[in-house]
Amino acid sequence: MVDTFFDPVPEVWLINGLAHRCAYCGTLMRSHPNKKRFPEGRCPIRQCNSRNSPKVSEKLDPNKDYLRIANPQILTYWTGPAIDELNIFDTARQNGLDAELYPESDLCDVAINERAIGIDAKSYTSPVTLALRLNRSIGGLIHYHRRILAVSDQLIEDNLNYLSTVI
Ligand SMILES: [Zn+2]
Repeated sequence: MVDTFFDPVPEVWLINGLAHRCAYCGTLMRSHPNKKRFPEGRCPIRQCNSRNSPKVSEKLDPNKDYLRIANPQILTYWTGPAIDELNIFDTARQNGLDAELYPESDLCDVAINERAIGIDAKSYTSPVTLALRLNRSIGGLIHYHRRILAVSDQLIEDNLNYLSTVI
């Protein structure tokens, strides 16, 4: 079953025959139509490419190395969103807070001082989709004394009405 989560690297992702790995998040970069601006490709993960300019850590040859990539469904719901959650968790720890990642079987993304503060990072491009989702349920966050929804600065820079639309 695990095999079904992975695909061979598609030909269109190769850049001059090689798979370029993103230096920040480790996923494979994609070739970009703007070859001048992105000569070595661009990271496809929004949480990563909105923060960093493209940088290749290694170039892998699919004819020599056994390369498999997680399919798009896995990348969307697993690898990508965790970047924001890990940033919050790392920052909390660096500031000496008692932070826990995905506490109590994923009740929220980051808990601080057990049930005192619960933080969920949301990365919906559309504030309307996020609002509809929250209207239905705020999930495990309901169990926390103080509840925080975190939206990245990049999403707000792209849409200055993001927060007012959600509220
Ligand atoms: Zn990346």
